[in-house]
Amino acid sequence: MDLNIAGRSAIVCAASKGLGRACAEALAAEGVNLVINARTADVLMRTADEIRSRYRVDVVAVPADITTIEGREAVLAECPDPDILINNAGGPPPGDFRDWDEAAWHAALQNNMVSPIQMIRSVIDGMIARRFGRIVNITSGAVKSPISILGLSNGARTGLTGFVAGLAREVAQHNVTINNLLPGPFDTDRLDATLKGAAKSSGKSLEEVRQARMLANPSRRFGTPDEFGAACAFICSAQAGYMVGQNVLLDGGAFPGTL
Ligand code: NAP
Repeated sequence: MDLNIAGRSAIVCAASKGLGRACAEALAAEGVNLVINARTADVLMRTADEIRSRYRVDVVAVPADITTIEGREAVLAECPDPDILINNAGGPPPGDFRDWDEAAWHAALQNNMVSPIQMIRSVIDGMIARRFGRIVNITSGAVKSPISILGLSNGARTGLTGFVAGLAREVAQHNVTINNLLPGPFDTDRLDATLKGAAKSSGKSLEEVRQARMLANPSRRFGTPDEFGAACAFICSAQAGYMVGQNVLLDGGAFPGTL
């Protein structure tokens, strides 16, 4: 299926690895030119080289922290008028809410709510003027089904979700869509780090913990980043213009609700 976005431009934030990278690759496969970013320059440059060599698209790599004003300015300087924006960043740390002071909350809100909103603010009027825009926020299944030790994530990401729910309805008339992709367990470095932590605290082997987590999911496995990227690319397609303000859960069926 041709998604009809060849030649368009995308900013994909936090895209040297994992889900962000998978979104970048899926868009590149559709002929979308990319600006990608992450903090660790050498890993980012390697990713950019690999995507460039695999697909015939332009890939500009901007080493920067997307949660800072300077980082966002550096990314936007390379692509002030993207057709597509994928908002992503690392998630906040786990813990007990009694240990989180105001600074911890401000950091989580900055990283996972305010930064994506500021990115949207910078690009949305251009999208409206050109009558095409696709914005996808990578959030988390925890928005729909909170994970108690990830309280900072539950709170900050739900704040973002609430804000864009309103904005999405304002801009849909201009063929600008805003949707959220909610990952359940996907096989990335972040999931690996979580499993290593669980193995250490439980005294079980990493493989045991991994297998148990997979078996607990109705699909009996973790999602692959490629599956995530493919869903993202479809939401960015020309054909998906009537998909507005949705929270698309990709979790192998882990959320037990009928709707
Ligand atoms: P990952 O494999 O660890 O990759 C994270 C990517 O983001 C890396 O490229 C990292 O590069 C970049 N990054 C992190 N913080 C950044 C920042 N401040 N500025 C720029 N780049 C940054 O993680 P992932 O699994 O793809 O997760 C992506 C998002 O989905 C996270 O918010 C995570 O919490 C959420 N999520 C993931 C899962 C899952 O199962 N994988 C489930 C639910 C939610 P640098 O470190 O070099 O910057």
